[in-house]
Amino acid sequence: MFVPELIAIERGAERAPMVERCRARVPAVPVMVVDDRRELAGLGTDFTAAKRRLVLAPRRGPFLEHCPAGRGALACCNYLVLNLASNCPLDCHYCFLQEYLAGNVSLTAYVNVEQALAELAQVLDRHAERRFRVGTGELADSLALDPVTGLCRDLVPFFAARPNALLELKTKTTAVDDLVQLDPKDRVVVSWSLAPPAVIAAAEEGTVPIPARLAAARRAVASGYKIGVHFDPMIEHAGWEEGYRDLVAAIAAALPLERVAWVSMGTLRLTAGLVARIRARFPGTPLLGGERVPGPDGKLRDFQPLRVRMYRRIRAWLADALPGVPLYLCMETPEVWQRVFGAPPPAEQALGALLAAR
Ligand code: SF4
Repeated sequence: MFVPELIAIERGAERAPMVERCRARVPAVPVMVVDDRRELAGLGTDFTAAKRRLVLAPRRGPFLEHCPAGRGALACCNYLVLNLASNCPLDCHYCFLQEYLAGNVSLTAYVNVEQALAELAQVLDRHAERRFRVGTGELADSLALDPVTGLCRDLVPFFAARPNALLELKTKTTAVDDLVQLDPKDRVVVSWSLAPPAVIAAAEEGTVPIPARLAAARRAVASGYKIGVHFDPMIEHAGWEEGYRDLVAAIAAALPLERVAWVSMGTLRLTAGLVARIRARFPGTPLLGGERVPGPDGKLRDFQPLRVRMYRRIRAWLADALPGVPLYLCMETPEVWQRVFGAPPPAEQALGALLAAR
């Protein structure tokens, strides 16, 4: 369980329910009240240290945005992101937050959750005929802070009462203790990002091993949650075929087929800025070996033939082990979809609706 070294509360938020929950759950953690979270800059801007300081503050901008895949030449699954936290206590070598949040002095949990849910409710009510998939795992792991914030106690009842929305909580943790006490009424998918043990050992600091993730997934299933699986980022390494094949077998052995909502695949994506950050923070990482080429969004990816080969291999294992479970590619081009599935990607609305109906 993540326990912050320090909690900083922005003045005015002291009585927010989330703040009171955090203080009750980790009473030994020192607390300070600040006029503005930027005051923490005095403690230094080292990114690793920033991940251990938790700021509790209201979010001032909108909470809801469209997934970035919907803005370019990539196939899109019409996914909405609800930003309830910024930064993550885990430390994956490939994480884009190192660049996106460089210079941040903390990780932040937004305390005005009611406002976030009111904003979301407006969208859901305005388009009652549509089905939405909403995720919280874009700028943070969805559950890593949950043992401290108890955020899922606000989220799960909200979605349980919403017939046209499905919540996805995306994680690499085992933090399901709160979740399993709630009734999701089939409106919540808990998704695990999974990778072979060699990748986890080399590049996912602070995460838990696959057997523990799958054991947590089984607990979630037993409490009525559906499960999503993400092979993202897929990373080519010596023995990748055995690694991913064994992983597919382990998933199929651990989870009941009818409770797996979807599987996604996506290969590593890097900007030049992120490469520089990774080199600086993890100089020995094996992640940066091999050549990559820029995609339509400017991000560096493995050469297309390698990506297609990996997707096809894993798709074949999945078809055997998890027949009928929807499979989609994340942040990929229509051309790669065509080569992997023998068909172009479904239209954004169609794919989104298919997944949201799971
Ligand atoms: S779990 Fe996700 S958000 Fe957290 S460090 Fe890893 S990639 Fe980044």
